[in-house]
Amino acid sequence: MEHNFSKDSLELLYEISRELVSSLDFNLVLARVLQLSANNVGAERGVLIVLDEALNPVQAVIVYQGQLMQYKDEDVHAILRGGMAGWVLRNRQAVLIGDTSQDERWLHRPDDDLNRSGPKSAICVPIQIAGDRIVGILTIVHPEPGFFRQEHLELLQAIADQAGIAIHNARLYRSLETAQQRYHDLFDDNIDPIFITDWNGKIIEANRMVFQTIGLSREVLAERSITDFHSVDWEVVGQKFENLSFNSGTLFYESELLSGNKKLEVEVYVRRCDLNDGTYLQWILRDVSERKALEEMRESLMATIYHDLRSPLSNVLSSLDLIKSSLAEKQNTELDRLIDIALRSSDRVQRLTGSLLDIYRLEAGQPVENRKKVDVSRITQPALKAVEVNAEARQMKITQHVPPGLGKLWVDEDMIQRVLINLLDNAVKYTPAHGHIELGAVSQGDFIKIWVKDNGPGIPDEAQNQIFEKFSRLQTGTKWKGIGLGLAFCRLAVEAHGGRIWVDSAEGEGSCFQMTLPVARE
Ligand code: ADP
Repeated sequence: MEHNFSKDSLELLYEISRELVSSLDFNLVLARVLQLSANNVGAERGVLIVLDEALNPVQAVIVYQGQLMQYKDEDVHAILRGGMAGWVLRNRQAVLIGDTSQDERWLHRPDDDLNRSGPKSAICVPIQIAGDRIVGILTIVHPEPGFFRQEHLELLQAIADQAGIAIHNARLYRSLETAQQRYHDLFDDNIDPIFITDWNGKIIEANRMVFQTIGLSREVLAERSITDFHSVDWEVVGQKFENLSFNSGTLFYESELLSGNKKLEVEVYVRRCDLNDGTYLQWILRDVSERKALEEMRESLMATIYHDLRSPLSNVLSSLDLIKSSLAEKQNTELDRLIDIALRSSDRVQRLTGSLLDIYRLEAGQPVENRKKVDVSRITQPALKAVEVNAEARQMKITQHVPPGLGKLWVDEDMIQRVLINLLDNAVKYTPAHGHIELGAVSQGDFIKIWVKDNGPGIPDEAQNQIFEKFSRLQTGTKWKGIGLGLAFCRLAVEAHGGRIWVDSAEGEGSCFQMTLPVARE
Protein backbone atom coordinates (compact mmCIF):
# COMPACT_ATOMS: atom_id res chain seq x y z
CA MET A 1 0.00 0.00 0.00
CA GLU A 2 1.29 3.47 -0.91
CA HIS A 3 1.24 5.81 2.10
CA ASN A 4 1.36 9.57 2.11
CA PHE A 5 2.53 10.17 5.61
CA SER A 6 3.00 13.67 6.93
CA LYS A 7 6.44 14.81 8.00
CA ASP A 8 5.42 14.31 11.64
CA SER A 9 4.28 10.79 10.99
CA LEU A 10 7.48 9.92 9.15
CA GLU A 11 9.49 11.30 12.02
CA LEU A 12 7.46 9.21 14.41
CA LEU A 13 8.02 6.07 12.34
CA TYR A 14 11.71 6.81 12.20
CA GLU A 15 11.85 7.31 15.95
CA ILE A 16 9.95 4.08 16.51
CA SER A 17 12.26 2.17 14.23
CA ARG A 18 15.18 3.41 16.31
CA GLU A 19 13.45 2.50 19.54
CA LEU A 20 12.82 -1.01 18.29
CA VAL A 21 16.49 -1.78 17.97
CA SER A 22 17.65 0.23 20.96
CA SER A 23 17.53 -2.38 23.66
CA LEU A 24 17.43 -6.11 24.22
CA ASP A 25 14.77 -5.64 26.90
CA PHE A 26 11.82 -6.46 24.74
CA ASN A 27 9.16 -5.33 27.19
CA LEU A 28 10.75 -1.94 27.53
CA VAL A 29 10.96 -1.55 23.77
CA LEU A 30 7.29 -2.38 23.30
CA ALA A 31 6.28 0.05 26.05
CA ARG A 32 8.29 2.85 24.42
CA VAL A 33 6.76 2.15 21.02
CA LEU A 34 3.30 2.20 22.49
CA GLN A 35 3.94 5.40 24.41
CA LEU A 36 5.31 7.13 21.32
CA SER A 37 2.37 6.04 19.17
CA ALA A 38 -0.24 7.02 21.73
CA ASN A 39 1.33 10.37 22.54
CA ASN A 40 1.80 11.26 18.96
CA VAL A 41 -1.85 10.97 18.05
CA GLY A 42 -3.01 12.22 21.43
CA ALA A 43 -4.51 8.87 22.37
CA GLU A 44 -5.37 8.26 25.96
CA ARG A 45 -4.74 4.56 26.04
CA GLY A 46 -2.70 2.01 24.09
CA VAL A 47 -2.66 -1.76 24.35
CA LEU A 48 -0.17 -4.06 22.68
CA ILE A 49 -0.73 -7.79 22.98
CA VAL A 50 1.96 -10.24 21.83
CA LEU A 51 0.73 -13.67 20.72
CA ASP A 52 2.56 -16.96 20.48
CA GLU A 53 2.42 -19.32 17.49
CA ALA A 54 -0.84 -20.80 18.76
CA LEU A 55 -2.25 -17.23 18.94
CA ASN A 56 -2.38 -17.26 22.73
CA PRO A 57 -1.35 -14.06 24.50
CA VAL A 58 2.15 -14.29 25.94
CA GLN A 59 2.77 -10.70 26.86
CA ALA A 60 0.94 -7.39 26.96
CA VAL A 61 1.82 -3.76 27.47
CA ILE A 62 -0.78 -1.20 28.47
CA VAL A 63 -0.18 2.52 28.53
CA TYR A 64 -2.69 4.92 30.07
CA GLN A 65 -2.13 8.67 29.93
CA GLY A 66 1.52 8.12 29.17
CA GLN A 67 2.04 5.72 32.08
CA LEU A 68 2.78 2.03 31.91
CA MET A 69 -0.05 0.14 33.62
CA GLN A 70 -0.24 -3.18 35.40
CA TYR A 71 -2.69 -5.60 33.82
CA LYS A 72 -4.41 -8.77 34.75
CA ASP A 73 -4.09 -11.80 32.51
CA GLU A 74 -7.85 -12.31 32.54
CA ASP A 75 -8.40 -8.77 31.16
CA VAL A 76 -6.17 -9.57 28.22
CA HIS A 77 -8.00 -12.86 27.66
CA ALA A 78 -11.37 -11.06 27.87
CA ILE A 79 -10.35 -8.50 25.21
CA LEU A 80 -9.19 -11.29 22.94
CA ARG A 81 -12.32 -13.31 23.47
CA GLY A 82 -15.04 -10.73 23.27
CA GLY A 83 -13.48 -7.38 22.47
CA MET A 84 -12.25 -5.55 19.44
CA ALA A 85 -8.80 -7.17 19.54
CA GLY A 86 -10.49 -10.56 19.31
CA TRP A 87 -12.46 -9.42 16.28
CA VAL A 88 -9.29 -8.18 14.57
CA LEU A 89 -7.52 -11.43 15.34
CA ARG A 90 -10.34 -13.57 13.93
CA ASN A 91 -10.89 -11.36 10.86
CA ARG A 92 -7.21 -10.52 10.28
CA GLN A 93 -8.25 -6.99 9.49
CA ALA A 94 -7.61 -3.56 10.96
CA VAL A 95 -10.57 -1.67 12.32
CA LEU A 96 -11.38 1.94 13.10
CA ILE A 97 -14.26 2.57 15.49
CA GLY A 98 -15.61 6.11 15.45
CA ASP A 99 -17.83 5.70 18.49
CA THR A 100 -17.20 2.85 20.89
CA SER A 101 -20.64 3.12 22.45
CA GLN A 102 -22.23 2.39 19.06
CA ASP A 103 -20.11 -0.59 18.08
CA GLU A 104 -20.74 -4.04 19.39
CA ARG A 105 -17.18 -5.17 18.64
CA TRP A 106 -16.14 -2.98 21.54
CA LEU A 107 -16.14 -4.79 24.87
CA HIS A 108 -18.06 -2.56 27.24
CA ARG A 109 -16.67 -2.22 30.70
CA PRO A 110 -17.90 -0.28 33.72
CA ASP A 111 -15.40 2.38 32.78
CA ASP A 112 -17.23 2.99 29.49
CA ASP A 113 -20.45 4.02 31.26
CA LEU A 114 -21.83 7.44 30.32
CA ASN A 115 -21.23 8.84 33.76
CA ARG A 116 -17.57 7.73 33.59
CA SER A 117 -15.32 8.03 30.51
CA GLY A 118 -18.23 7.47 28.10
CA PRO A 119 -17.96 6.95 24.31
CA LYS A 120 -14.51 7.05 22.72
CA SER A 121 -12.89 6.36 19.36
CA ALA A 122 -10.42 3.53 18.76
CA ILE A 123 -8.12 1.89 16.22
CA CYS A 124 -7.06 -1.70 16.37
CA VAL A 125 -4.61 -3.32 13.93
CA PRO A 126 -3.13 -6.81 13.62
CA ILE A 127 0.65 -7.07 13.89
CA GLN A 128 1.73 -9.37 11.13
CA ILE A 129 4.95 -10.81 9.84
CA ALA A 130 5.88 -12.52 6.58
CA GLY A 131 3.38 -15.14 5.53
CA ASP A 132 0.65 -13.07 7.18
CA ARG A 133 1.22 -14.74 10.53
CA ILE A 134 -0.29 -12.66 13.30
CA VAL A 135 2.12 -12.10 16.16
CA GLY A 136 0.21 -9.42 18.06
CA ILE A 137 -2.56 -6.84 18.21
CA LEU A 138 -2.07 -3.09 18.64
CA THR A 139 -4.91 -0.85 19.91
CA ILE A 140 -5.08 2.84 20.68
CA VAL A 141 -8.04 4.66 22.17
CA HIS A 142 -8.89 8.36 22.08
CA PRO A 143 -11.26 9.89 24.67
CA GLU A 144 -13.32 11.69 21.95
CA PRO A 145 -15.64 9.82 19.58
CA GLY A 146 -14.95 10.51 15.90
CA PHE A 147 -11.37 11.56 16.54
CA PHE A 148 -9.53 8.99 14.46
CA ARG A 149 -9.36 9.15 10.69
CA GLN A 150 -8.07 6.89 7.94
CA GLU A 151 -4.57 8.39 8.09
CA HIS A 152 -4.32 7.45 11.77
CA LEU A 153 -5.21 3.93 10.90
CA GLU A 154 -2.55 3.82 8.20
CA LEU A 155 0.03 5.25 10.53
CA LEU A 156 -0.82 2.70 13.22
CA GLN A 157 -0.60 -0.09 10.65
CA ALA A 158 2.87 1.12 9.63
CA ILE A 159 3.89 1.13 13.29
CA ALA A 160 2.45 -2.39 13.70
CA ASP A 161 4.49 -3.60 10.72
CA GLN A 162 7.68 -2.39 12.33
CA ALA A 163 6.71 -3.88 15.67
CA GLY A 164 6.04 -7.17 13.87
CA ILE A 165 9.60 -7.37 12.67
CA ALA A 166 10.84 -6.60 16.17
CA ILE A 167 8.60 -9.26 17.73
CA HIS A 168 9.74 -11.77 15.17
CA ASN A 169 13.40 -10.99 15.84
CA ALA A 170 12.82 -11.18 19.57
CA ARG A 171 11.31 -14.62 19.12
CA LEU A 172 14.26 -15.80 17.06
CA TYR A 173 16.61 -14.35 19.62
CA ARG A 174 14.77 -16.06 22.44
CA SER A 175 14.75 -19.45 20.73
CA LEU A 176 18.45 -19.03 20.00
CA GLU A 177 19.02 -18.23 23.64
CA THR A 178 17.05 -21.30 24.73
CA ALA A 179 18.97 -23.49 22.33
CA GLN A 180 22.23 -22.04 23.55
CA GLN A 181 21.18 -22.57 27.15
CA ARG A 182 20.24 -26.14 26.36
CA TYR A 183 23.65 -26.79 24.80
CA HIS A 184 25.34 -25.16 27.71
CA ASP A 185 23.41 -27.36 30.14
CA LEU A 186 24.33 -30.44 28.14
CA PHE A 187 27.95 -29.36 28.30
CA ASP A 188 27.88 -28.47 31.97
CA ASP A 189 25.92 -31.49 33.17
CA ASN A 190 27.89 -33.97 31.13
CA ILE A 191 29.20 -36.82 33.24
CA ASP A 192 32.60 -36.63 31.54
CA PRO A 193 35.07 -33.83 32.23
CA ILE A 194 35.15 -31.62 29.12
CA PHE A 195 37.68 -28.88 28.37
CA ILE A 196 37.62 -26.32 25.59
CA THR A 197 41.05 -24.96 24.70
CA ASP A 198 42.56 -22.71 22.10
CA TRP A 199 45.09 -23.99 19.57
CA ASN A 200 47.92 -23.55 22.07
CA GLY A 201 46.18 -25.81 24.55
CA LYS A 202 45.21 -22.92 26.82
CA ILE A 203 41.99 -23.65 28.70
CA ILE A 204 39.10 -21.42 27.65
CA GLU A 205 36.20 -23.30 29.24
CA ALA A 206 35.58 -26.35 31.35
CA ASN A 207 32.43 -28.04 32.54
CA ARG A 208 31.32 -28.74 36.10
CA MET A 209 32.77 -32.26 36.06
CA VAL A 210 36.23 -30.80 35.49
CA PHE A 211 35.99 -28.70 38.64
CA GLN A 212 34.66 -31.67 40.59
CA THR A 213 37.36 -34.03 39.41
CA ILE A 214 40.33 -31.71 39.54
CA GLY A 215 39.16 -29.60 42.46
CA LEU A 216 40.42 -26.31 41.05
CA SER A 217 38.37 -23.16 40.68
CA ARG A 218 37.36 -21.68 37.36
CA GLU A 219 39.78 -18.76 37.83
CA VAL A 220 42.78 -20.98 38.52
CA LEU A 221 41.90 -23.23 35.64
CA ALA A 222 41.68 -20.36 33.20
CA GLU A 223 45.41 -19.71 33.57
CA ARG A 224 46.37 -23.27 32.76
CA SER A 225 47.03 -25.48 29.79
CA ILE A 226 45.43 -28.82 28.97
CA THR A 227 48.93 -30.32 29.12
CA ASP A 228 49.04 -29.54 32.87
CA PHE A 229 46.34 -32.12 33.48
CA HIS A 230 47.29 -35.05 31.32
CA SER A 231 50.07 -36.11 29.00
CA VAL A 232 48.96 -35.48 25.46
CA ASP A 233 49.71 -38.16 22.89
CA TRP A 234 51.51 -35.90 20.42
CA GLU A 235 51.73 -38.65 17.85
CA VAL A 236 47.97 -38.78 17.69
CA VAL A 237 47.20 -35.05 17.70
CA GLY A 238 50.39 -33.82 16.01
CA GLN A 239 53.10 -31.59 17.56
CA LYS A 240 51.09 -28.45 16.88
CA PHE A 241 47.68 -30.13 16.94
CA GLU A 242 47.92 -30.15 13.16
CA ASN A 243 46.19 -33.54 12.96
CA LEU A 244 43.10 -31.77 14.23
CA SER A 245 43.18 -28.84 11.89
CA PHE A 246 41.04 -30.28 9.15
CA ASN A 247 37.87 -32.27 9.37
CA SER A 248 39.65 -35.17 10.93
CA GLY A 249 36.76 -36.10 13.21
CA THR A 250 37.48 -37.19 16.75
CA LEU A 251 40.95 -38.41 17.69
CA PHE A 252 41.43 -40.85 20.52
CA TYR A 253 44.14 -42.02 22.89
CA GLU A 254 44.55 -43.29 26.43
CA SER A 255 46.21 -41.27 29.13
CA GLU A 256 46.14 -40.35 32.80
CA LEU A 257 44.34 -37.37 34.26
CA LEU A 258 46.32 -35.74 37.04
CA SER A 259 43.99 -34.56 39.77
CA GLY A 260 45.82 -33.43 42.88
CA ASN A 261 48.18 -36.26 43.69
CA LYS A 262 45.82 -38.83 42.21
CA LYS A 263 46.08 -40.26 38.73
CA LEU A 264 42.96 -41.38 36.91
CA GLU A 265 43.08 -43.58 33.86
CA VAL A 266 41.23 -41.78 31.10
CA GLU A 267 40.25 -42.17 27.49
CA VAL A 268 40.81 -38.88 25.70
CA TYR A 269 38.61 -37.80 22.79
CA VAL A 270 39.78 -34.61 21.04
CA ARG A 271 38.14 -32.82 18.21
CA ARG A 272 38.08 -29.44 16.64
CA CYS A 273 34.92 -27.47 17.40
CA ASP A 274 33.56 -24.35 15.81
CA LEU A 275 32.13 -21.78 18.18
CA ASN A 276 30.73 -18.36 17.31
CA ASP A 277 34.03 -16.56 17.55
CA GLY A 278 36.37 -19.10 16.03
CA THR A 279 37.56 -22.67 16.17
CA TYR A 280 38.74 -24.37 19.33
CA LEU A 281 39.64 -27.82 20.59
CA GLN A 282 37.27 -29.90 22.65
CA TRP A 283 38.78 -32.47 25.00
CA ILE A 284 36.66 -35.14 26.68
CA LEU A 285 38.62 -36.99 29.36
CA ARG A 286 36.54 -40.02 30.25
CA ASP A 287 37.42 -41.63 33.54
CA VAL A 288 37.87 -45.36 32.86
CA SER A 289 39.73 -46.27 36.03
CA GLU A 290 36.85 -48.24 37.48
CA ARG A 291 36.30 -50.11 34.28
CA LYS A 292 40.02 -50.89 33.99
CA ALA A 293 40.15 -52.13 37.58
CA LEU A 294 37.15 -54.36 36.91
CA GLU A 295 38.71 -55.67 33.71
CA GLU A 296 41.90 -56.47 35.55
CA MET A 297 39.98 -58.23 38.28
CA ARG A 298 38.05 -60.23 35.74
CA GLU A 299 41.15 -61.21 33.83
CA SER A 300 43.04 -62.30 36.88
CA LEU A 301 39.98 -64.26 38.02
CA MET A 302 39.81 -65.97 34.63
CA ALA A 303 43.53 -66.71 34.79
CA THR A 304 43.07 -68.30 38.20
CA ILE A 305 40.25 -70.42 36.84
CA TYR A 306 42.28 -71.59 33.82
CA HIS A 307 45.17 -72.30 36.10
CA ASP A 308 43.09 -74.29 38.57
CA LEU A 309 41.45 -76.27 35.77
CA ARG A 310 44.78 -77.63 34.68
CA SER A 311 45.52 -80.14 37.41
CA PRO A 312 42.06 -81.80 37.55
CA LEU A 313 42.18 -81.95 33.76
CA SER A 314 45.53 -83.65 33.67
CA ASN A 315 44.17 -86.10 36.26
CA VAL A 316 41.31 -86.90 33.92
CA LEU A 317 43.74 -87.34 31.05
CA SER A 318 46.12 -89.63 32.91
CA SER A 319 43.21 -91.70 34.24
CA LEU A 320 41.88 -92.06 30.72
CA ASP A 321 45.35 -93.09 29.54
CA LEU A 322 45.53 -95.73 32.25
CA ILE A 323 42.10 -97.09 31.40
CA LYS A 324 43.08 -97.19 27.75
CA SER A 325 46.21 -99.23 28.39
CA SER A 326 44.47 -101.65 30.75
CA LEU A 327 41.77 -102.10 28.11
CA ALA A 328 44.31 -102.86 25.44
CA GLU A 329 44.49 -106.55 26.37
CA LYS A 330 40.71 -106.94 26.48
CA GLN A 331 40.27 -105.89 22.85
CA ASN A 332 36.95 -104.15 23.45
CA THR A 333 36.77 -101.91 20.38
CA GLU A 334 33.59 -100.10 21.40
CA LEU A 335 35.07 -99.09 24.77
CA ASP A 336 38.34 -98.19 23.05
CA ARG A 337 36.49 -95.84 20.73
CA LEU A 338 34.70 -94.15 23.60
CA ILE A 339 37.89 -93.71 25.57
CA ASP A 340 39.55 -92.20 22.51
CA ILE A 341 36.75 -89.64 22.17
CA ALA A 342 37.08 -88.78 25.87
CA LEU A 343 40.85 -88.47 25.51
CA ARG A 344 40.67 -86.24 22.45
CA SER A 345 38.04 -83.98 23.99
CA SER A 346 39.98 -83.62 27.21
CA ASP A 347 43.12 -82.87 25.21
CA ARG A 348 41.23 -80.16 23.45
CA VAL A 349 39.98 -78.60 26.67
CA GLN A 350 43.49 -78.77 28.07
CA ARG A 351 44.91 -76.98 25.05
CA LEU A 352 42.23 -74.35 25.21
CA THR A 353 42.76 -73.58 28.91
CA GLY A 354 46.51 -73.58 28.34
CA SER A 355 46.18 -71.06 25.51
CA LEU A 356 43.79 -68.84 27.47
CA LEU A 357 46.22 -68.77 30.36
CA ASP A 358 49.08 -68.02 27.95
CA ILE A 359 47.11 -65.14 26.39
CA TYR A 360 46.67 -63.63 29.84
CA ARG A 361 50.34 -64.04 30.77
CA LEU A 362 51.79 -62.93 27.45
CA GLU A 363 49.53 -59.89 27.29
CA ALA A 364 50.75 -58.95 30.75
CA GLY A 365 54.24 -59.02 29.26
CA GLN A 366 55.53 -62.16 30.95
CA PRO A 367 58.38 -63.81 29.05
CA VAL A 368 58.22 -67.41 27.79
CA GLU A 369 59.65 -69.48 30.61
CA ASN A 370 59.90 -73.12 29.58
CA ARG A 371 62.16 -72.80 26.59
CA LYS A 372 64.35 -75.68 25.60
CA LYS A 373 65.99 -77.18 22.55
CA VAL A 374 63.27 -78.95 20.64
CA ASP A 375 63.49 -80.92 17.44
CA VAL A 376 61.10 -79.62 14.76
CA SER A 377 59.53 -83.07 14.51
CA ARG A 378 58.59 -82.88 18.22
CA ILE A 379 56.37 -79.99 17.25
CA THR A 380 55.04 -81.24 13.93
CA GLN A 381 54.35 -84.90 14.76
CA PRO A 382 52.16 -84.41 17.88
CA ALA A 383 50.37 -81.57 16.10
CA LEU A 384 49.56 -83.80 13.13
CA LYS A 385 48.39 -86.49 15.48
CA ALA A 386 46.08 -84.07 17.29
CA VAL A 387 44.20 -83.14 14.11
CA GLU A 388 44.41 -86.55 12.43
CA VAL A 389 40.98 -87.82 13.45
CA ASN A 390 39.19 -84.64 12.43
CA ALA A 391 41.03 -84.54 9.12
CA GLU A 392 40.16 -88.16 8.40
CA ALA A 393 36.53 -87.58 9.26
CA ARG A 394 36.48 -84.89 6.61
CA GLN A 395 38.48 -86.95 4.14
CA MET A 396 41.28 -84.40 4.01
CA LYS A 397 44.70 -85.25 2.71
CA ILE A 398 47.63 -83.91 4.73
CA THR A 399 51.09 -83.92 3.11
CA GLN A 400 54.29 -83.20 4.96
CA HIS A 401 57.35 -81.31 3.74
CA VAL A 402 59.53 -81.43 6.81
CA PRO A 403 63.07 -82.37 5.78
CA PRO A 404 65.24 -84.09 8.38
CA GLY A 405 68.22 -82.28 9.92
CA LEU A 406 66.61 -78.85 10.15
CA GLY A 407 68.14 -78.35 13.57
CA LYS A 408 66.53 -77.63 16.87
CA LEU A 409 64.17 -74.86 17.87
CA TRP A 410 64.59 -72.76 21.03
CA VAL A 411 60.96 -72.77 22.17
CA ASP A 412 58.38 -73.71 24.77
CA GLU A 413 57.46 -77.06 23.27
CA ASP A 414 53.93 -77.29 24.61
CA MET A 415 53.10 -73.71 23.64
CA ILE A 416 54.42 -73.97 20.07
CA GLN A 417 52.73 -77.34 19.62
CA ARG A 418 49.47 -75.64 20.50
CA VAL A 419 50.22 -72.88 17.99
CA LEU A 420 50.73 -75.38 15.20
CA ILE A 421 47.66 -77.39 16.25
CA ASN A 422 45.65 -74.17 15.98
CA LEU A 423 46.87 -73.55 12.45
CA LEU A 424 46.24 -77.13 11.37
CA ASP A 425 42.88 -77.18 13.12
CA ASN A 426 41.83 -74.02 11.27
CA ALA A 427 42.97 -75.50 7.95
CA VAL A 428 40.84 -78.57 8.60
CA LYS A 429 37.92 -76.51 9.91
CA TYR A 430 37.76 -73.90 7.15
CA THR A 431 38.66 -76.04 4.12
CA PRO A 432 35.76 -77.93 2.54
CA ALA A 433 35.76 -81.73 2.83
CA HIS A 434 38.24 -83.60 0.57
CA GLY A 435 40.58 -80.65 0.78
CA HIS A 436 44.33 -80.76 0.71
CA ILE A 437 46.55 -79.50 3.52
CA GLU A 438 50.32 -79.22 3.48
CA LEU A 439 52.60 -78.89 6.48
CA GLY A 440 56.14 -77.77 5.79
CA ALA A 441 59.28 -76.46 7.45
CA VAL A 442 62.33 -74.75 6.01
CA SER A 443 65.53 -73.39 7.51
CA GLN A 444 66.03 -69.61 7.24
CA GLY A 445 69.29 -68.61 8.95
CA ASP A 446 68.68 -68.11 12.64
CA PHE A 447 65.06 -69.11 12.19
CA ILE A 448 63.06 -72.04 10.99
CA LYS A 449 59.89 -71.27 9.08
CA ILE A 450 56.96 -73.60 9.59
CA TRP A 451 53.97 -73.27 7.29
CA VAL A 452 50.49 -74.70 6.94
CA LYS A 453 48.87 -74.42 3.54
CA ASP A 454 45.31 -75.29 2.58
CA ASN A 455 43.19 -75.07 -0.54
CA GLY A 456 40.20 -73.62 1.31
CA PRO A 457 38.29 -70.35 0.81
CA GLY A 458 41.27 -68.06 1.44
CA ILE A 459 41.25 -64.78 3.33
CA PRO A 460 40.63 -61.39 1.72
CA ASP A 461 43.57 -58.94 1.78
CA GLU A 462 41.98 -56.49 4.17
CA ALA A 463 41.31 -59.19 6.76
CA GLN A 464 44.73 -60.80 6.72
CA ASN A 465 46.08 -58.77 9.60
CA GLN A 466 42.82 -58.41 11.45
CA ILE A 467 42.29 -62.16 11.94
CA PHE A 468 45.25 -62.18 14.35
CA GLU A 469 43.36 -59.86 16.71
CA LYS A 470 41.33 -61.21 19.59
CA PHE A 471 37.72 -62.14 18.81
CA SER A 472 38.14 -61.45 15.15
CA ARG A 473 36.32 -63.90 12.91
CA LEU A 474 35.28 -63.83 9.30
CA GLN A 475 31.82 -65.04 8.59
CA THR A 476 31.98 -67.93 6.19
CA GLY A 477 28.57 -69.08 5.03
CA THR A 478 25.94 -68.45 7.62
CA LYS A 479 27.46 -69.52 10.89
CA TRP A 480 30.54 -68.83 12.96
CA LYS A 481 32.86 -71.77 13.47
CA GLY A 482 34.99 -70.44 16.29
CA ILE A 483 35.41 -67.71 18.89
CA GLY A 484 38.34 -65.90 17.31
CA LEU A 485 40.99 -66.46 19.97
CA GLY A 486 43.13 -69.09 18.22
CA LEU A 487 45.17 -66.83 15.94
CA ALA A 488 45.45 -64.12 18.61
CA PHE A 489 47.10 -66.70 20.82
CA CYS A 490 49.33 -67.83 17.93
CA ARG A 491 50.58 -64.32 17.30
CA LEU A 492 51.24 -63.59 20.99
CA ALA A 493 53.07 -66.89 21.40
CA VAL A 494 55.20 -66.60 18.26
CA GLU A 495 56.11 -62.97 18.88
CA ALA A 496 56.99 -63.73 22.49
CA HIS A 497 59.52 -66.17 21.03
CA GLY A 498 60.97 -63.40 18.86
CA GLY A 499 59.40 -64.81 15.70
CA ARG A 500 56.81 -63.61 13.21
CA ILE A 501 53.51 -65.02 11.99
CA TRP A 502 51.49 -64.03 8.94
CA VAL A 503 49.26 -65.38 6.21
CA ASP A 504 49.66 -65.38 2.45
CA SER A 505 46.32 -65.80 0.82
CA ALA A 506 43.94 -64.70 -1.85
CA GLU A 507 40.22 -65.11 -1.73
CA GLY A 508 39.20 -68.42 -3.27
CA GLU A 509 42.79 -69.63 -3.54
CA GLY A 510 43.54 -71.13 -0.15
CA SER A 511 45.70 -69.78 2.66
CA CYS A 512 49.27 -70.32 3.69
CA PHE A 513 49.94 -69.51 7.36
CA GLN A 514 53.62 -69.09 8.12
CA MET A 515 55.63 -68.56 11.26
CA THR A 516 59.31 -68.16 12.00
CA LEU A 517 60.79 -69.52 15.23
CA PRO A 518 64.32 -69.11 16.58
CA VAL A 519 66.85 -71.87 16.13
CA ALA A 520 68.57 -73.10 19.29
CA ARG A 521 72.26 -72.11 19.44
CA GLU A 522 74.79 -74.83 20.03
P1 ADP B 1 38.36 -69.16 15.31
O1 ADP B 1 38.82 -70.25 14.39
O2 ADP B 1 38.09 -69.62 16.69
O3 ADP B 1 37.27 -68.32 14.75
P2 ADP B 1 40.97 -68.00 14.87
O4 ADP B 1 41.62 -66.86 15.57
O5 ADP B 1 41.68 -69.29 14.84
O6 ADP B 1 39.56 -68.15 15.52
O7 ADP B 1 40.68 -67.56 13.39
C1 ADP B 1 40.12 -66.27 13.13
C2 ADP B 1 39.37 -66.26 11.83
O8 ADP B 1 40.28 -66.37 10.74
C3 ADP B 1 38.44 -67.45 11.66
O9 ADP B 1 37.19 -67.15 12.23
C4 ADP B 1 38.35 -67.58 10.16
O10 ADP B 1 37.37 -66.70 9.67
C5 ADP B 1 39.70 -67.09 9.67
N1 ADP B 1 40.58 -68.23 9.35
C6 ADP B 1 41.52 -68.79 10.13
N2 ADP B 1 42.16 -69.78 9.51
C7 ADP B 1 41.63 -69.87 8.28
C8 ADP B 1 41.87 -70.70 7.12
N3 ADP B 1 42.81 -71.65 7.14
N4 ADP B 1 41.13 -70.47 6.03
C9 ADP B 1 40.19 -69.52 6.00
N5 ADP B 1 39.91 -68.70 7.04
C10 ADP B 1 40.62 -68.87 8.17
